[in-house]
This record gives sequence, structure tokens and C-alpha cells, in this order.
Amino acid sequence: MSKCATCGKSIIAGGIKDHGFRFCSKPCHQRKAGYIAKMRQIPEAVVKIEVEKIRNMRCSRCKKNTGIDVHKSAFVWSMIFLTRFGENKHICCKTCALKSQAMDTLRTTAFGWWGIPFGLIMTPISIVANVTQMVSTARRKQPSAALSEFARERLARQAAAREAAPG
Ligand SMILES: [Zn+2]
Ligand SMILES: [Zn+2]
Repeated sequence: MSKCATCGKSIIAGGIKDHGFRFCSKPCHQRKAGYIAKMRQIPEAVVKIEVEKIRNMRCSRCKKNTGIDVHKSAFVWSMIFLTRFGENKHICCKTCALKSQAMDTLRTTAFGWWGIPFGLIMTPISIVANVTQMVSTARRKQPSAALSEFARERLARQAAAREAAPG
């Protein structure tokens, strides 16, 4: 399931798509449209340099390792008729990512099932998704496409902040 890139609301169907982003409504899209235009203007070479910079930063969690990338994990949490599920993004080193992915898998295994009917459906899907993510995290040698997107967004955010700053 995707989330609105502006307000964070879950989008079940439809919405507006722009440059890999999804928005729940027109106003939400308009609020980010200028920003997305800025993202498109950043040359690929500049993004590559930023990706290298991020990869060589020290991990903000363990303060030890480098090799930062974007890693994902799925989670499910249920209480009878209520089931919450989603995806966590981890921007950290491989070791810390594997730890978070394992924790989300354990929590999902313990607390995911107890919802009717979504807990029962989403829990096995999420566990399989997490195992797949962990294998991909463990094997990854090249920076991921998600990291390029993250770097591109970071550059656009910095550019926007520079423009907003007086002088
Ligand atoms: Zn929205
Ligand atoms: Zn770390």
C-alpha cells in the first residue's frame, strides 16, 4: 500500500502519480509539484556524487559502520478486528538494517496474526516480504535505486532550503 507523499495518508486506490510519488488529492499534489520539478532538474552525475557521500557517512544508529543504504521491512500488528500493516524504511548500515528487519519479522510473527481477516492474510505475506528484503540487504553490493531517489530528494530539499534562506 502507498502513502500520500505530502500528508502521509494511506492510498488504497487511485490518487495522483508523479515521478514515483503518489498523492491522495490534487491539493496534496500541488503542494509538492514545485519540489518534484526541482528533483527532475538535478543531473544524474550530481545524484551519483551525493549517493557516494551518503554511503560513506557513518551510520546514525551504530555510529560505527559506513555503507549506508535504504532498506525496507514490512510489519503487521493486529488486535481482533483491527490490523495495522505497513512498511518501515531504514536509512542505515547493513548490520543495523538486518537487525531492524529481524525485529519487524519477530514482532509480526508474534502480533500480526490476531486480526480477522487481515492479520491472517497480511502476516504470511509480510514475513515472506521481510525474508526477501533481508536476503537482498545481505547480498547488496551496489547502492540501491531507492538510495538514488533518497539522494535526489535530499538535494532537492537542500536546494529548496537555500532558496528560502534570506540573502
Ligand atoms: Zn495527501
Ligand atoms: Zn549501523
